[in-house]
Amino acid sequence: MTYTNFTIDTDTDGLALVTWDMPDKSMNVFTAHVLEELNAIIDAVVADAAIKGVVFTSGKSTFSGGADLSMIKGMFTFQAEEKKKNPDTATEKLFALCGQMNGIFRKLETCGKPWVSAINGTCMGGAFELSLACHGRVASNVKSVKIALPEVKVGIFPGAGGTQRVPRLTNAQDALQMMTTGSSLTPQRAKAMGLVHELADPDKLIDAAKTMLKNGLKPVQPWDEKGFKVPGGGIWTPAAAQLWPAASGILRRETFGNYPGALAIVKCVYEGLQVPFDTGLKIEQRYFTQILQTTEAFSMIRSLFVSMQELGKGARRPAGIAKSKFAKIGVVGAGFMGASIAYVTAAAGIPVTLVDRDMDAATKGKAHSEGLVKDSVGKGRMTPEQGEALLALITPSADYNDLSDVKLVVEAVFEDRQVKKDVIEKVEAVLADDAIFASNTSTLPITGLAKNSKRPAQFIGIHFFSPVEKMMLTEVIMGKETGDAALATALDFVAAIKKTPIVVNDTRGFYVNRCVFRYIHEAYDMLIEGVPAAMIENAAKMAGMPVGPLSLNDEVAIDLSQKILKASIADLGEASVDPQHMTLINKLVDDLDRRGRKNGKGFYDYPAKPAKKSLWPGLKDLFPQKPADAFDVTVLKQRFLATIALEAARTMEEGIVTDPREADVGSILGFGFAPYTGGTLSYIDGMGVKAFVALCEKLAASYGDHFQPTALLQDMAAKGETFYGRFDPYAAREAA
Ligand code: NAD
Repeated sequence: MTYTNFTIDTDTDGLALVTWDMPDKSMNVFTAHVLEELNAIIDAVVADAAIKGVVFTSGKSTFSGGADLSMIKGMFTFQAEEKKKNPDTATEKLFALCGQMNGIFRKLETCGKPWVSAINGTCMGGAFELSLACHGRVASNVKSVKIALPEVKVGIFPGAGGTQRVPRLTNAQDALQMMTTGSSLTPQRAKAMGLVHELADPDKLIDAAKTMLKNGLKPVQPWDEKGFKVPGGGIWTPAAAQLWPAASGILRRETFGNYPGALAIVKCVYEGLQVPFDTGLKIEQRYFTQILQTTEAFSMIRSLFVSMQELGKGARRPAGIAKSKFAKIGVVGAGFMGASIAYVTAAAGIPVTLVDRDMDAATKGKAHSEGLVKDSVGKGRMTPEQGEALLALITPSADYNDLSDVKLVVEAVFEDRQVKKDVIEKVEAVLADDAIFASNTSTLPITGLAKNSKRPAQFIGIHFFSPVEKMMLTEVIMGKETGDAALATALDFVAAIKKTPIVVNDTRGFYVNRCVFRYIHEAYDMLIEGVPAAMIENAAKMAGMPVGPLSLNDEVAIDLSQKILKASIADLGEASVDPQHMTLINKLVDDLDRRGRKNGKGFYDYPAKPAKKSLWPGLKDLFPQKPADAFDVTVLKQRFLATIALEAARTMEEGIVTDPREADVGSILGFGFAPYTGGTLSYIDGMGVKAFVALCEKLAASYGDHFQPTALLQDMAAKGETFYGRFDPYAAREAA
């Protein structure tokens, strides 16, 4: 029998090597066809008396990334279709579908012949659950191999036996920690936890797995043996009495009850450990069926899994333009941002010429990369040779002529129109005819800057976020005259440095900063109303924001806020800024010199380390604060999310953002907008536009006109539309 996704090679000892190697895919993933073939392979192994045992491995450099996009999407389409056909049986059918992987894995571990998983590379999600169903696990001892059950990060949880097998192999505390955070384990850590049995050099992996079989590995899992005891003794022990109340508390502290998937993990482990293994699997299957029907799972999977991959793979790239290969990139301005942009470019293997006003400044920019490399080498994340190779790709220069052979220049000089004009002219004087100029400006409209260019069609914005090394998002900004070739080149560059792009039409603040400043301004309003500062910060975190708005403003710098407010007044008139906001910020910056973290005092005080930052007590005197119970925390939470989501809706209405996937992904990657909602527009779609409009009207009545729902929202509410329906990204693409 031959298979599409697997090969089987049985040796003279009767040991079958099953190699998972999907054609036309760079990584193995679970699809319906893979499961079908795996099921058939198990049957074939059982039927073939010559086969004594199986080693299961991957033919790729990684083991597997887990479930495939199409399979996950399919579960939601299946639900929707079944609900339409017959709502009474839809859940039952979904329940059956959710049990499919569990059924196959259980069949594998009870088939009577021993299986060893040889984990040769990164092994994620369902693939690790498959490995857990094998009787033995040997992993490569290479530290960069990652082993994880990361499902919780996209709103679901390990539903193919993970919640039952992991806590039967390791203690419940480590099991919960691994699954509720979705964090990756090194092979060494996985072995220490008892999740893999052996580690081996990559070239000895298969031999080690076969030796395990030859040594008589029993085809029975520990939990199927008589007298099996759960590690740590199970639920009814004094230790467990300590663990479980704390586990719930910790989960609440970390998630504020916003992530049903994470809570379901705790329930599956707690309930599953009290019953026989097969009943535990049923419990897991029930919770999985329930979680798949939540708005959180639907929205998180759509944004954090499907859309993120689609945008990363160039969903917005114009068709018909050859993909750019970058032999060299130019970065002009070797300061805070430019130095980091040079680093991430070199880290992606692309040579960079880093230009500044003089050689000293350019060399200082490269020193940033030297520092990062030294750190990585010190921590064993990079070999000294890799570090050297990376640094050799960055050439500091003070000579614009060195940019004559680059395909793309990223400009990151001072945020000053005149300085930028100068640089644009100097760069264009030497740049090749077909090269693209990209500005990293954060506040200056691209269309205005492009007026200094002789070739505005080749002028674009690539807006990075700080810290560039960590932030996954870039906003690609289209000026009025920016052409498709510039867009394609910018997107190819962003893909090459492994960041996720969103394409945004030109506007003040682009997309992310427009939303961020709504968040911060709502906090100003709350301060002025007398909400205690600690309550403002806590309510924001309870709403799902990673950083409180006052803390965020300190990071951004309060004097930058002042600059932006003043620029708005200068360009758009007094009415564009709330006078109370201007007074607050002027007081902080001009009278009190509180500029944020950078000068050690802002909304917070920043004492010398190791002391931690704390809210500045003087805030109480600026605005008389009322007692916390004068405010409803639910309303505070709603105000934060609604004001940001409304701004996102405005950007769609104005045609600044045109694809709801970008609004959603941009909001989560750009400023951590409550990920459980799936992003700004999914937050609105998730509750229904009608309900959102009603919420906004209620908030507008008490907290100001900035909550008034827009004409677009009113129209959508009246027609019963959603953002993903009205601005269907797939329909738009097909029509193009
Ligand atoms: P910076 O002051 O740290 O660096 C600017 C660099 O430009 C300096 O090294 C300076 O010597 C150099 N420079 C100035 N004039 C030059 C010229 N004529 N030729 C060559 N080099 C010149 O500033 P930064 O924070 O890195 O910001 C740079 C750009 O990135 C700005 O447009 C800013 O708005 C944007 N930006 C900044 C952030 C941030 O968080 N700091 C985030 C996104 C975008």
